[in-house]
Amino acid sequence: MSKQFDVVVIGGGPGGYIAAIRAAQLGFQVACIDEWKNEKGGPAPGGTCTNVGCIPSKALLQSSEHYEHAAHHFGDHGISLDNLKMDVAKMVGRKNTVVKQNNDGILFLLKKNKVSFFHGRGSFAKAVEGGYEINVAGAANEVLTAKNVIVATGSNARALPGAAFDEEKILSNDGALRIGAVPAKLGVIGSGVIGLEMGSVWRRLGAEVTILEAMPGFLGAADEGVAKEALKAFKKQGLKFEFGVKISKVDASGDGVVVFFADAKGAEQTLAVDKLIVSIGRVANTIGLNPEAVGLALDERGMVVVDADCKTNLPGVWAVGDVVRGPMLAHKAEEEGVAVAERIAGQHGHVNFATIPWVIYTSPEIAWVGRTEQQLKADGVAYKAGQFPFLANGRARALGDTTGFVKFLADATTDEILGVHIVGPMASELISEAVVAMEFKASAEDIARICHAHPSLSEATKEAALAVDKRTLNF
Ligand code: FAD
Repeated sequence: MSKQFDVVVIGGGPGGYIAAIRAAQLGFQVACIDEWKNEKGGPAPGGTCTNVGCIPSKALLQSSEHYEHAAHHFGDHGISLDNLKMDVAKMVGRKNTVVKQNNDGILFLLKKNKVSFFHGRGSFAKAVEGGYEINVAGAANEVLTAKNVIVATGSNARALPGAAFDEEKILSNDGALRIGAVPAKLGVIGSGVIGLEMGSVWRRLGAEVTILEAMPGFLGAADEGVAKEALKAFKKQGLKFEFGVKISKVDASGDGVVVFFADAKGAEQTLAVDKLIVSIGRVANTIGLNPEAVGLALDERGMVVVDADCKTNLPGVWAVGDVVRGPMLAHKAEEEGVAVAERIAGQHGHVNFATIPWVIYTSPEIAWVGRTEQQLKADGVAYKAGQFPFLANGRARALGDTTGFVKFLADATTDEILGVHIVGPMASELISEAVVAMEFKASAEDIARICHAHPSLSEATKEAALAVDKRTLNF
């Protein structure tokens, strides 16, 4: 006997569990299937984000930042520590506790919202009268039927050809978050968000970190000014970079790993490291979903094909998050999950791709929303730019963290904010003001005229808005 639901969600990451909760809030009978297992084999919903992504990376970034401050910056505050020690096992243990708190929190939320949770792998069985049959293969095998199915099966790390992840020496994000002792030498392939965050953690804890990047430049998606400032700061901290490399071979047969590559000038080079993190992008995960059973269309990269509303080629089947086009970000997955649940209910769910914030949680943090200066130039948009350095911000000085700036880009005629780019302390939090402003189509003048608390980092945002019309007050 199959169990009947209005909505079945396959995948319990940020896209899936949020879609399930929103659908339940709207009065539907909802099931959420997720196969992630904790170390005891029990359920661990939350997906990549909670288990091996956003949450554990931020936990380790925090621990490693505390260590770096204690080792190198406490002295500036007149605090000295004798015999500073680091316990990596405890750091990783704390990270695991934070992950578990989030897993448990999600299970609680699903229960609170009366979502039926199934721990196992969900796959399409067949289309039936008025819906779909979904098999769940887990501790108990179940068959669920629903008119609406939301696919939220996420993504997996992309491996380098010829260098499969062994999670001991060649690490994906999963292994990178479980290293048991600080490696003397760490290689990172890919200078994107994940490579930078993971490289920063282990560099702060004492590893010599070298990042190899295939692209000729740094952080192509970010505003050029921000990328330049961030690269300068990372190099000063001791991260080493090689851009424009072409990797020919990875040899993990010895004690460590040797990467063979041609550098930007075409000269053959080798990099010998103890461990290698490969962070060269992620691939959509439809393993085990059995899309063929119902004819669910995938594109040539294995992503579920959807329209702007997350509708697939099948009536009643939707897909959200990393398994579909668009930025692979947890908050994008969540917004799509909410919008799809609302569309199923006949409402007008909406995701504004133009105001999705991007954040890199390194030190300095990097965050932006909207278009970059190079994009505006390429699009032929007439714009004004205003920039304010944290060096001139009182709170940043008191914090002892004056790297970076806030930069505003506004339409030359209407003054509407077109992009805000931040590199510096707490950029991840400061960017929210810019997101709100852009959602409400605010002008730079609007932000410039709002009272910001003193002393706060957010005053740099106000001053950058003032800088658009060349009338900063504190610089
Ligand atoms: P996922 O989180 O991948 O969840 C999919 C879930 O579906 C998983 O639990 C999986 O086990 C399950 N599943 C798959 N197939 C099946 C099946 N057939 N049956 C049952 N269950 C199935 N994003 C940010 O916004 N901010 C960050 O700071 C950030 N940091 C990151 C750091 C790292 C190291 C990594 C790797 C990623 C990070 N991301 C971050 C990206 C973020 O994790 C993803 O964008 C987000 O998790 C996507 O959510 P999702 O729900 O689409 O998929």
